[in-house]
Amino acid sequence: MTELHFYDTMTRQKRVLDPVTPGRVGVYVCGPTVYDRAHLGNARSAVAFDVLHRVLRDHFGAANVTFVRNLTDIDDKINARAAETGRPIADITEETVAWYHADMAALGVLSPTEEPRATGYIPEMIAMIEELVAAGHAYEAAGHVLFEVKSFPDYGALSGRSLEDMIAGARVEVAPFKRDPMDFVLWKPSDAATPGWDSPWGRGRPGWHIECSAMARALLGQRFDIHGGGLDLQFPHHENEIAQSRACCGPGSFANLWLHNEMLQVEGRKMSKSLGNFFTVRALLDAGTPGEVIRFVFLMTHYAKPMDWTEEKARTAETTLRNWHALTEGVDPGMPAPSVRAALADDLNTPLALAQLHALAQAGDGPGLLASARLLGLLAFGAEAWTSIDAETEALIEALIADRAAARDAKQYALADRIRDAFADAGVEVMDGAAETRWTLKPGFDIAKLDGLR
Ligand code: AMP
Ligand code: ZN
Repeated sequence: MTELHFYDTMTRQKRVLDPVTPGRVGVYVCGPTVYDRAHLGNARSAVAFDVLHRVLRDHFGAANVTFVRNLTDIDDKINARAAETGRPIADITEETVAWYHADMAALGVLSPTEEPRATGYIPEMIAMIEELVAAGHAYEAAGHVLFEVKSFPDYGALSGRSLEDMIAGARVEVAPFKRDPMDFVLWKPSDAATPGWDSPWGRGRPGWHIECSAMARALLGQRFDIHGGGLDLQFPHHENEIAQSRACCGPGSFANLWLHNEMLQVEGRKMSKSLGNFFTVRALLDAGTPGEVIRFVFLMTHYAKPMDWTEEKARTAETTLRNWHALTEGVDPGMPAPSVRAALADDLNTPLALAQLHALAQAGDGPGLLASARLLGLLAFGAEAWTSIDAETEALIEALIADRAAARDAKQYALADRIRDAFADAGVEVMDGAAETRWTLKPGFDIAKLDGLR
């Protein structure tokens, strides 16, 4: 079988995957911080690494793939959410994890082999911090333990930034107890109102970066094959993970290859909670966009390129999927096409793989199409599983559009405007073209807002 190649963001070149243990592969991907619903950008990252997961399973066999995706359930954003809402932290994290699992299932994302929670690995984190202190890479100051960046000369190799860039980029807190502004927190003290665990440095909690280093070592060992996450995590999060892990376990330790997905953007800027330009996976699903369509839209762009979500792409994806579902209905899967495997073996080239699927569909090869599509996590279920717009909703909207047109023709502008405003209020986007009027449902669509118009 062909070898798998990936673009390694550490060495900035495509490299062959050459597993630490022949025939087996270990992967660590940074998962969500669980205080709120996943937005579409988070979903892009999850789908990108799900393709990796599926390709590795196809190549090595499912039993030989350990795919770790953590849940960050200790974080100051979670603490802040609990303080704002007055809810217990465990309620917030449990609820968010359940939402995350449901959203991921809707997108066809496989469960990871291991899904460690930070709260389950406190002793491992404390042990790692103690090793770093003993080796002279970390120091205690004012109840905190800090990693001394200057003690790790390779710092910055992953992101390839100068020290000045890094200081600016990290927006590091220049706390008086730090020896150097670049030094980052491994452990910090907790007050009575904040979750904390006993440690050699008093009651406190771990910093975010050490969570991933400790969980990766616990589940994958000191050396493993692939580390993944969004490009927004490359610095400082991944840089810090590398520094901690290599300072503990020696130069060749930690991940061999680094994969980073590019950002899902909105008008040229990263979709993120802090910018407020996000919409959640759930809102999109509830508005009638099937998870499979969302997944398909992501696959249309290579994971290492920035992309925008557009309604136009969703419509293209839905049309294609409807055709493919029709073509494969009642068909038994054959073997994935070599051309599809080859596209994916070349740094997960999903746009090329989709082009090969189109060719299979064109050739009428239902069994090949089905097996190949499933390799990408598509066509796993029939289209009837789509939570799509129901016929009644569709009929109501079509009828109201006709009413609006009739009202305009009759110069009953008040009625036409009332229908227009109700659409806007309910979340129906109407696009009046020269030839036809098209419409889509926006996230958060609420049919109740159309009550009483007919
Ligand atoms: P978070 O919950 O913010 O820690 O993010 C979980 C994962 O989603 C991380 O791997 C992030 O890098 C990734 N991520 C966050 N925002 C985006 C975005 N706009 N596009 C793609 N991936 C993202
Ligand atoms: Zn991480």
